[in-house]
Amino acid sequence: MKTLLLPSGRTIPVLGQGTWAMGEDPARRRQEADALRLGMDLGVNLIDTAEMYGEGGAEEVVAEALAGRRDQAFIVSKVYPHNADRRGVQAACERSLQRLGTDRIDLYLLHWRGSVPLVETLEGFEALKSAGKILDFGVSNFDASDMREAARLPGGGELAANQVLYNLARRGIEWNLLPWCREHGLPLMAYSPLESSAEEQAAMLARPGLKQVAARHGVSAAQVALAWLLHQDGVVVIPKAVKPAHVRENRAALDIALTAQDLAELDQAFPPPRRATPLDMR
Ligand code: NAP
Repeated sequence: MKTLLLPSGRTIPVLGQGTWAMGEDPARRRQEADALRLGMDLGVNLIDTAEMYGEGGAEEVVAEALAGRRDQAFIVSKVYPHNADRRGVQAACERSLQRLGTDRIDLYLLHWRGSVPLVETLEGFEALKSAGKILDFGVSNFDASDMREAARLPGGGELAANQVLYNLARRGIEWNLLPWCREHGLPLMAYSPLESSAEEQAAMLARPGLKQVAARHGVSAAQVALAWLLHQDGVVVIPKAVKPAHVRENRAALDIALTAQDLAELDQAFPPPRRATPLDMR
């Protein structure tokens, strides 16, 4: 699997598996853990989770999937903004580690910006990193102005990633956030790469320009949407899939090489931004 370099010198795989909405229903847990295990069998070892998902339930599903193979995985988890003060973040991380059944989180993110001063969160992250409980830390749902502000604070230079909403239908971050991340060597993690909700996903996947490219490659529109994100420099993509056929398709998106003609047609169907827009969020 191709990887990107983090500012710490560690690496992060370009394709991962999301876990939002996992761990909410005990009857589905087995199927969810099986999906994550299948992804790992296919070489997709980055798993993205958060204390918020299923109020800890998703982290427990991840633990189930990782039984006996923790060292193979790259775990990303996130702290709620209201838990992200200097001491709160230590306690939240301990709870996540417990649920995940591990002694370390590869990349720990502030889920979104709340009212706790960033400088406190960064102090908490640095303490966790010194203790070896997290190996890298970063943020999520930060716009370019938030990134500039965070980068200037003590510990801000160690920020390893920003995870934001990014897909073919939502390209606003290409205006200034993605260029900022590239300039600073900070991978950008694209969440909801398939638009998440059934209605929005259907609208994106049904656009003729996208269907045309998919037909030419003999793959699904969803796979082209993922291949397009994977083609962007400095971007990590984390689709969530429970259906085994989806897990397999998503892994296979890595093997699609989009041509200049494909990219031009996709730009036509999903035009890049022409001006700055506020960051889109789920
Ligand atoms: P997504 O990955 O864009 O879409 C998930 C939906 O697409 C599910 O319904 C899934 O179905 C379906 N799907 C997956 N692969 C498919 C394929 N090949 N063809 C057709 N449909 C497919 O949405 P998401 O869960 O919102 O985003 C991905 C991950 O990003 C999350 O799980 C979470 O880890 C992270 N995230 C982070 C934030 C944040 O604030 N940081 C916000 C949102 C999401 P099945 O599950 O039935 O297979």
